[in-house]
Amino acid sequence: MERSNARAFVLVILLAWGCGGGLEPVEPDVTASQCGTEAPTEQTLTRVAQEATRSASVVRPPGSVRVPTYVHVIRRGTGVANGDVPLAAINAQLDVLRAAYSATPFVFDLVTVTRTTNATWYVMGPGSAAEVSAKNALHRGGKESLNLYLANPGGGLIAWATFPWAVAGAPLKDGVVLLNATLPGGTATPFNQGKTAVHEVGHWLGLMHVMTGCATDDGVSDTPRAQPSYTCAVAVDSCPADPGLDPIHNYMGYADDACMTEFTPGQSVRMDSMALMYR
Ligand SMILES: [Zn+2]
Repeated sequence: MERSNARAFVLVILLAWGCGGGLEPVEPDVTASQCGTEAPTEQTLTRVAQEATRSASVVRPPGSVRVPTYVHVIRRGTGVANGDVPLAAINAQLDVLRAAYSATPFVFDLVTVTRTTNATWYVMGPGSAAEVSAKNALHRGGKESLNLYLANPGGGLIAWATFPWAVAGAPLKDGVVLLNATLPGGTATPFNQGKTAVHEVGHWLGLMHVMTGCATDDGVSDTPRAQPSYTCAVAVDSCPADPGLDPIHNYMGYADDACMTEFTPGQSVRMDSMALMYR
């Protein structure tokens, strides 16, 4: 699953601007998915839903599931400008993850940080040969372990992730790739508070996007359906037939980092269920 979306789209514009390209601001493509994580097929979602209904709905206590976390810094040289992310930023990212998931069963333990200089891997895109070779070389741990790859993907992508139901068939592909500038204090404003990692780890634990249209369900009962939105506009109900205001503050939405502040209890249950089934 990858992540080419409005967040990425906005980022491309900002970067183009920052480079003095003289581009006029363009409205994000609101029909695009927020992140580059590839949408599962209907067939896959149906199978997952069937498997979920057969498994007991157990909610483990907050902080009871330790997730071994391996961070892989892929750089093109020394210095932050070449992707050599400092340990302080990585620790800050882990802190953001722990805070965001504090009401869920999951807590993230940093096991190790690897540093690899490889200019090809540094700009790897989803599904590329570079991604395959980087992950084959760097992936650590089993299906319960989170691998975070920090790189500088091409094509304006800021991140992508794999879903838990895919790990058995492709164990080395499992994990999350992040644009290094999305870490706390990075340069990917307004996506530089570490919430991109929170969003992608949500996918890694089986969550779908919220706000994907009135006809689309994310498999969670307490996330109101909504039309895609990339703002932090409050008190909007874009799908009146489905109870509840648009979940603009949800981590699985499309807003700027500052707007993203919550998972719902239903999302926590789904993540726990998915982890029990697949991780
Ligand atoms: Zn996403």
